[in-house]
Amino acid sequence: MFKARFNRRGALAVGALPLLLTVPAARMAQAQDAAPAAAFAGRANQIRLGSFEVTTLLGGTGDMPDPIQTFGLNADPAEFEQVSAQNFIPNDRTGSGYTPTLVRTPEALVLFDAGDNAANIGASMAAVGVMPEDITHVVLTHMHGDHVRGLMADGAPAYPNAQLIVPRLENDYWAANPGDAYTANVVPLLDGARQTDDGEEIVPGITAEGAYGHTPGHTTYLLDSEGQKLLITGDSFSHYVYSVERPDWQVRFDIDKVKGAEARAKVLARLAEERLPFIGYHMPFPALGFIAPNGENSFRYVPATYQFTR
Ligand SMILES: [Zn+2]
Repeated sequence: MFKARFNRRGALAVGALPLLLTVPAARMAQAQDAAPAAAFAGRANQIRLGSFEVTTLLGGTGDMPDPIQTFGLNADPAEFEQVSAQNFIPNDRTGSGYTPTLVRTPEALVLFDAGDNAANIGASMAAVGVMPEDITHVVLTHMHGDHVRGLMADGAPAYPNAQLIVPRLENDYWAANPGDAYTANVVPLLDGARQTDDGEEIVPGITAEGAYGHTPGHTTYLLDSEGQKLLITGDSFSHYVYSVERPDWQVRFDIDKVKGAEARAKVLARLAEERLPFIGYHMPFPALGFIAPNGENSFRYVPATYQFTR
């Protein structure tokens, strides 16, 4: 109903174009209904970090019902409801996004995680004038589907000139327990890929740091340029309220629920202690912020605003 009314108004607004006036109203409504589903409006947010240019790329958004079934497996339902209400978010659904990060260093143009869909990431890259062919390295935090499906586009590598860099432990795990996303998107790129270990520098100024638990090889990446630092946290914590305020609440997608909670608390505590800015893959876009202490094993997310503009 609402859509049909909106479309009629749209048709009136462009009524000055004679060609459109000849299109039957029903067909026009059909075309206009179909258009928004096909087009993803790319979004990118760019900051400077020393000599690095750091850009977050929106890869898509989605809704999930019953957030307690994902972010509070061991939570008391009344407490879960209270935390939701205190943060002005509904208790019965959650909105999420996917946000890969692009880092331009003096030596390389590195994409961290490939998103769920290469076309969406391409649209967000285009917003800052980057083409898929420009990417020199694609680095993975881990190999869940929403991070690797965008490695391939129509059966071909989405980043034809890029070397794939993966945590060795992560690849070992999925090689032994392959799922569809791994088989279709990672395996074809393993020839020539580089497998890295905890503490290894992947390109000058960027170091891999294991944060195992969400997956067995889940890895964060510390950027350090001219003394300015930022941590790419991947899925160490995946909800900006539940997993940050209550890192002990177990998460459905953590392969090891206990280690996942331990790693989450450790990464959050470090961000708070060092007052490090971070980018989190499932944080609200532009997915860039800080972590502040909020009591015992509890923290709060502080979105970045103008700290990086000058
Ligand atoms: Zn994820």
